[in-house]
Amino acid sequence: MKIICIGRNYAQHAKELGNPVPSKPVVFLKPQSAILSHKHPFYIPTWTQEVHHEIELVVKINRIGKTISEHHAHRYYDEVGLGIDFTARDIQAELKSKGHPWERAKAFDGSAVVGGFVPLAELGKPVNDLAFTLQNRDQVVQSGETSAMLFSVDRLIAEVSTFMTLKMGDLLFTGTPEGVAAVQPGDRLTGRLEGRELFAVNIK
Ligand code: ZN
Repeated sequence: MKIICIGRNYAQHAKELGNPVPSKPVVFLKPQSAILSHKHPFYIPTWTQEVHHEIELVVKINRIGKTISEHHAHRYYDEVGLGIDFTARDIQAELKSKGHPWERAKAFDGSAVVGGFVPLAELGKPVNDLAFTLQNRDQVVQSGETSAMLFSVDRLIAEVSTFMTLKMGDLLFTGTPEGVAAVQPGDRLTGRLEGRELFAVNIK
């Protein structure tokens, strides 16, 4: 399986990092080895001084597809969850300045927290009308509404599948809203989708 990630999918987040709002989705991958089960703690790697949390809606692909139309994209998923796209921001800034790929900053072990999944039918709301939050210790640090995405889930599936085959079990991280910040040992990050707790990760 692969983890497909979208960068800069919320205008306010692009702005907080000083990035332009893209006219096409920014796409990158994380390997399967990046997955951190939500039952394990996250150890801040020794080679970075600045790991940021990015809470994101995660869509689980449930069938194989290529060149999927936006209209038919909804047939390719029926469960959604939340994840964290942990990002070594200092390393990413260095790589970006050189025009190099982001893997060292985005694809390291543990960089993809994946929480539990909920059937959309159970949520009883469309995928483009979901609210989610990330709490650190006792404070909400990020809150997002999927209605604020620059590119909707269906549009992302259509765009990505123009050049990559989607397979059952692939995960689509759909971008983070504003409020990204560095994590510290002792932090505890809790993700909630429509009020349901889907993960809680201790930072070490
Ligand atoms: Zn992200």
